[in-house]
Amino acid sequence: MKLSFEPQTLIFRHPFRIAHGMRTTTPIVITQIEHEGLIGFGEASMPPYLGESHESVCTFLELAAPVIKDLKDDFDIEFIMQEMDELALGNTAAKASIDIALHDLKGKLLGIPCYRMFGADKDKTPFSTFTLGIDEPEVIIKKINEADEFKILKVKLNGIDDRMMINTIRNVTDKPIAVDVNQGWKTKEHALKMIEWLAGMNVLFVEQPMLKDDYDSAAWLYERSPLPLYGDESIQRIDDISKVQGCYHGINIKLMKCTGMHEASKMITYARELKLKILIGCMSETSCAVSAAAQLTPFADYADLDGAMLMTNDLFDGIKFIEGKIILNDKPGIGVSLLNGF
Ligand code: MG
Repeated sequence: MKLSFEPQTLIFRHPFRIAHGMRTTTPIVITQIEHEGLIGFGEASMPPYLGESHESVCTFLELAAPVIKDLKDDFDIEFIMQEMDELALGNTAAKASIDIALHDLKGKLLGIPCYRMFGADKDKTPFSTFTLGIDEPEVIIKKINEADEFKILKVKLNGIDDRMMINTIRNVTDKPIAVDVNQGWKTKEHALKMIEWLAGMNVLFVEQPMLKDDYDSAAWLYERSPLPLYGDESIQRIDDISKVQGCYHGINIKLMKCTGMHEASKMITYARELKLKILIGCMSETSCAVSAAAQLTPFADYADLDGAMLMTNDLFDGIKFIEGKIILNDKPGIGVSLLNGF
């Protein structure tokens, strides 16, 4: 086994922000695990709030390399990921890059797509939401028109421009909306008032209304909310799920938070036991990590996997969307191929 990784900075641009005169970039690391001429691709995407960087990911991959090098043909992903957790705490995106590459490689060795490794039915993929960031009304309307084929819109709120955002959307479309507050509401009373208003606006659910560790307010809202509440930042890994019982109706599972596909599948099983709804989301990611997450979406109620669509310089060809529905292909592994030029 040979592990290689690309430590260089890869710049990703969100075209919508460029159009608005702003630029944001997210650092990523593409991980490759090679075995018998087959390459498994993985990806670490590092949004600032997770605290990882090119340097930290590469340092972790160097730490992990001896474990990967000792792999046998019938390697056990669960065992390897336990070893990864023993190497160092945190580093969830770095660990996810290894997990994704191992799943891709395993699928290629077996000659089957990963969704089949998990026993998923590819026809049961959900529709993905299309994300609208906070912006001027004319920009929002332009984005809504560009996202015409998507059936569900996801709206970011910040506690300041909330009514303007929702009213702007409702002036041009009655499509269902998923709302992501990103911890933006400061008091539970204000949050409840907003949720009650949103309940009359064809809103499907409200994600992370308050601070991630304010469990008391989340529980208070849970008792009163007319809309389902989903936790995102409150739930990183499987051990966090039991902490949010009675706080949310559902959880947002992201590979970069939970160390990858293996733990994500365990989280799905556990969340279902607790009668929690499941949303599978992503960070700003290429089609590599997005396609990996998509393999598990037949088990989800909702998916928010438009991350790679918002990039101007995707590195991979992977999952597709037809009228917003996630379409998995039948390629072995996570179903991606490198685009020319990488
Ligand atoms: Mg969120």
